[in-house]
Amino acid sequence: MAPMIAKLKKMVEGFAKPELKALLRSVPKTNAAVKRITGLRRDEMKEKCFELIENGDILSKTVFELYKKRTEQLVLKQFKIGTPHATVEQTLTTESTAVVAEDDKECQEVPIDLSLSLSPLPSCSSADVVASKLDCSVISAGDQIENNFFVGSPFYELRAVISEFTPLQSLMTFTLTPEHAAEFTQAGFEIQVRFCKLNSSGSFNGEDAYPPKLKLKVNGCVVPIVQLYDEMIDLTATPVTLCHINSFRPNRLDVSWNARRGDGIWVISMYLVKMLTTEDLLERMRCKGVRLEKATIGMIKNKIGKKASDSMYIVSVRCPIGKARMSLACRALSCTHVRCFDARTFLESQEKHPFSPLRCPLCCKRVDFDDLRIDEYFQGILEELSPKDGNKIKIHFDGTWLPDN
Ligand SMILES: [Zn+2]
Repeated sequence: MAPMIAKLKKMVEGFAKPELKALLRSVPKTNAAVKRITGLRRDEMKEKCFELIENGDILSKTVFELYKKRTEQLVLKQFKIGTPHATVEQTLTTESTAVVAEDDKECQEVPIDLSLSLSPLPSCSSADVVASKLDCSVISAGDQIENNFFVGSPFYELRAVISEFTPLQSLMTFTLTPEHAAEFTQAGFEIQVRFCKLNSSGSFNGEDAYPPKLKLKVNGCVVPIVQLYDEMIDLTATPVTLCHINSFRPNRLDVSWNARRGDGIWVISMYLVKMLTTEDLLERMRCKGVRLEKATIGMIKNKIGKKASDSMYIVSVRCPIGKARMSLACRALSCTHVRCFDARTFLESQEKHPFSPLRCPLCCKRVDFDDLRIDEYFQGILEELSPKDGNKIKIHFDGTWLPDN
């Protein structure tokens, strides 16, 4: 059996009834094999499709497109999430092909166009959720869209999905839409690609992962592939920023990797992102409101209550990162320790490694930027505590405090 026919049949093997029906309907009605397809069981439809593939009556392009759609839908289903792009009319700017990423030269050399043309960003429900979270963001809330798939960095704001998950190919092309190109030419915008591996059910764990021995070129220029070292999870992949991109002309992406059969499906996706600074994030943090004083006092009561009501709690007001006294006391809502850290110092240190996961500098737990808050109780202490009183305080059961000097 020719390798391409085997590959097409392998893709069709997993198709559900609606996809099989769409495939059969793509065949001209003059073909006797598709005259009666209503009432057929899935297995019967599949057998018919196999026969048509072997006879060359089904276009490989149609199989590839259905396979690509199915892969994307499986991911959405796995996460039980709606897509914010569901109301967006997505059109492939040119004919697109997608194949299983395996070590088959004949298959990998089919060029694929990654360009997805998105109409102006929708005011759909997911966008509204983001807008309410970022009520006074520096960018107009109506333009926010949410990255449903990957664990994101707070330092990169997703502006547009240029290409959804697409099975990896050795040669791909993409052209920015005029809207994306107009944003991309502004300072602070980047095009990023992200790689990950889907398992057989089409799901993945939300983390970037590089295919083995990945090499990438954009328009003939080598793109450095960086691995991030995180002390808690060792080496990990990151989004890859593409350089040497033509804003208004087609771009060529050459990818090589060491694929192994049965190793899952490696996929690539492409995004237009805007870089944010520590100042941007501090502004967003302020807009979220403070963690109320009574919540912190409640936490202190819990801690001291486990000992004796006349006990006192001694806490440092130095930031564990910069060692200087905090000026903007901050905590993650998910943390249970009383002590805080300085918001600006924390974000500035994180900005140097924007793809590193956010970890609380006190307990090392992974935290989400959306869970960071200015602590009203400690902020009040910082305003009252004189520099000559040192950097430690004693806190009583009821939340009253005095310098520990
Ligand atoms: Zn913590």
